[in-house]
Amino acid sequence: MQSASARQTVPPAVPQIAPLPAPVRPDPVRDRWAAPMRLAIAEAALAPATGDVPVGALVLGPDGEVIGRGHNEREAVGDPTAHAEVVAIREAAAKTGQWRLSGCTLVVTLEPCTMCAGAIVLSRIDRVVYGALDEKAGAAGSLFDVMRDRRLNHRPEVVPGVLADDCAEQLRAFFDTHR
Ligand SMILES: [Zn+2]
Repeated sequence: MQSASARQTVPPAVPQIAPLPAPVRPDPVRDRWAAPMRLAIAEAALAPATGDVPVGALVLGPDGEVIGRGHNEREAVGDPTAHAEVVAIREAAAKTGQWRLSGCTLVVTLEPCTMCAGAIVLSRIDRVVYGALDEKAGAAGSLFDVMRDRRLNHRPEVVPGVLADDCAEQLRAFFDTHR
């Protein structure tokens, strides 16, 4: 007779709908951003209370401290520009007393749209770390690649796909219950 522990080692038959590339473990490019991305996911979780899509963003200062945070509040304040990134950038600029956020990193749960990519370029943020890809509207590699357009004179480093599955699942869960 098979022991309980032996039975537990049999892998369950899980259907894989869309094959994903094998994750790199450890991933030196992305792993260091996992902790701040978890904070951004927690920030995103505040959005559905007002019917807003859960997207969360942080601005980290040059030393890694959080100097701005925001979640999507388009419905909450009735402002089409109140995306998480813009809210976080405004808070960081107010806190530092300057529009130029050189040396800062923006961490966001969803690939930035064209507006937010533009705001990131204008703010001189040096690095953008994002989670889920937005194939319909993303401007950081999916639909457009605004932040790495060589015609612009400020091009932040872009780190895509940090905790991408967790970020995508948060969005999926929202749309499953709200739409
Ligand atoms: Zn946006």
